[in-house]
Amino acid sequence: MRPIASHDVIVIGGGASGMMAAGRAAELGARVLLLEKNAELGVKLSMTGGGRCNITNAEEDERLFAAKYGASGEFLHSAFAQFGVRDTFSFCEARGLPLIVEAHKRAFPATERASDVAQMFVRYLAKGRVEVRTGVAVERLVMAAGRVEGVETSDGAFSARAYILATGGVSHPETGSTGDGYAWLRAAGHTVEKPTPTLVPLTVREGWAKKLSGVSLEAMKITFCVDGVKKFSRSGPLLFTHFGISGPTILNSAGKVKGLLIEGIVTALVDLFPGVDQGALDKRVTELFDANKNKLIKNVLKDVVPPGLGETLLALAKVDPETKVHSVTRDERKRLVDTAKRLPLTVTGLMSLDRAIVADGGLPLDEVDTRTMRSRRVQNLFVTGDLLHISRPSGGYSLQLCWTTGYVAGTNAVSTS
Ligand SMILES: Cc1cc2nc3c(=O)[nH]c(=O)nc-3n(C[C@H](O)[C@H](O)[C@H](O)COP(=O)(O)OP(=O)(O)OC[C@H]3O[C@@H](n4cnc5c(N)ncnc54)[C@H](O)[C@@H]3O)c2cc1C
Repeated sequence: MRPIASHDVIVIGGGASGMMAAGRAAELGARVLLLEKNAELGVKLSMTGGGRCNITNAEEDERLFAAKYGASGEFLHSAFAQFGVRDTFSFCEARGLPLIVEAHKRAFPATERASDVAQMFVRYLAKGRVEVRTGVAVERLVMAAGRVEGVETSDGAFSARAYILATGGVSHPETGSTGDGYAWLRAAGHTVEKPTPTLVPLTVREGWAKKLSGVSLEAMKITFCVDGVKKFSRSGPLLFTHFGISGPTILNSAGKVKGLLIEGIVTALVDLFPGVDQGALDKRVTELFDANKNKLIKNVLKDVVPPGLGETLLALAKVDPETKVHSVTRDERKRLVDTAKRLPLTVTGLMSLDRAIVADGGLPLDEVDTRTMRSRRVQNLFVTGDLLHISRPSGGYSLQLCWTTGYVAGTNAVSTS
């Protein structure tokens, strides 16, 4: 089939990196066509950061920032120099969406709405007169003599001088990221590393943890053990979910936990009060009890732990919730304190790839010129975002990679002949 339309640049995939790439190419004067199979642009982007969009990480030290991408960081210096963290801040501010910085330097739009970020990009595309075709699935890249000649889609064929592949990875496939780009890259002679979940929630056995679904702990310390032997600890927030535990601290622990699960039974002990040792906590609880002698224990706990957690603590410590505080025995108090310092969980596994926040896998960086994001096999093909095989932690590093690679690909696709 002969392609019927002609543009300077065709971007396949209207997610975070594709929208940046299309907007940037258009800003430089290119006639850009953006093809997206969903009915809307930025579906995954709109659910990032629990709906708040952790848009980047405000780490100012460029070396420290690049180091977060492990060995890949070395390949990315030039790309980050073209569009780095500061550029993300100015880009958003210039478009009426200032950012705020929270714990661990995680940056969010001040409106705390991920959909506002997606809308900012929709306006960016409109300003550049990008032709956006939603509901159009690309089915195949038409290749000839080491170049892409056109794309076949559910709505006909299109052609351009340069193509930007921004179809994402395979996590949360309901958002449209179904790994289509992997097959096209393979067909074009590229290697595609098998994806494995890297940032993924953990499943646990305990029913009480699942019942706490939606409850979050702002600051806790979790210690992972194999067959009762301590292996490593992490501190930060934790979110209980209907299948187990999640939140940045857990997601960032998943890679290591995966290894532990091969060694033996993995348990995790959650310290609800990491800032105080057991003795100091016991003293605080004693003071709390002294001040609330005639209240029911369950009501007193409500004020010091998140909703629902008091009942759980009492059940695990085997203390009747209807007991008046003055009747709580010394042993019962000690058991409560002990449980609060060592809430026990049995980790049964990692959630599957489809629930991962980020999966690695995709195009290895030595097969792409990271100064331009151009494929080293196909002259007029550029690759961005989650399609690249790069491990990184949670905290805004994935989206920054999208802004950077999208910007660099958009810039360089324009000058492709
Ligand atoms: C629940 C969740 C929360 C997250 N939160 C954060 C966060 O707060 N901060 C952060 O840094 N990262 C976060 N991430 C990761 C981040 O969302 C991704 O790294 C980023 O969205 C990847 O962008 P992308 O452009 O590479 O691909 P995607 O966003 O996956 O977009 C790819 C697009 O291509 C389209 N497409 C696919 N195949 C075709 C085809 N054949 N034809 C046409 N269109 C096609 C898809 O429909 C999709 O719209 C989160 C991820 C998830 C799942």
